[in-house]
Amino acid sequence: SIYGDYIKSVIRTVPDWPQSGVNFRDITPLLQNRSAFRKLIDSFVHRYQEMGIDAVAAIDARGFIVGAPLAYELGCSFVPVRKKGKLPFRTISETYTLEYGEAEVELHSDAFKRGDRILIVDDLIATGGTMLAAAKLISRSGGQVVETSTIVDLPDLGGSQRIREAGYGVFAVCS
Ligand code: IMP
Repeated sequence: SIYGDYIKSVIRTVPDWPQSGVNFRDITPLLQNRSAFRKLIDSFVHRYQEMGIDAVAAIDARGFIVGAPLAYELGCSFVPVRKKGKLPFRTISETYTLEYGEAEVELHSDAFKRGDRILIVDDLIATGGTMLAAAKLISRSGGQVVETSTIVDLPDLGGSQRIREAGYGVFAVCS
């Protein structure tokens, strides 16, 4: 993407967090930098402003940081895709497997209308499990997933490839 190299340069890598052997990609320096944060949101706005997006579905919790200003700029709805047990009304959920155990994402059953054009956003794609579960959930709810999008893709982990193989597009600001 246009600002990809710059955005990448303001993401911090924290070795051995949350556990030994993991390189955690930390976006907080990017959020603290007003010029970088603006360029980040603009990268998404630029890609999606002519795509007729009805709702931005953002994944709990760092997806919200990008999703809310993006929905505001696109003039569309904002829909939270939350971790299990956080949404108060009727929900539909999708379970997926993690390295150890399982996780679940949930959506309110009235979050959007059948056929609405939905853009999904999160901060990072690693194994792709979270994003793919969100995409399946939205498809099952009758939404049309226009694309899945992320600030960072870690291509070596194969997640974005897996999402594409499942039939969804993937946009990453940087890799
Ligand atoms: P996946 O399901 O394996 O693709 O993991 C992606 C999810 O885990 C996203 O919701 C991310 O917020 C989170 N995540 C995994 N690794 C990192 C990281 O290095 N930095 C920030 N978030 C991460």
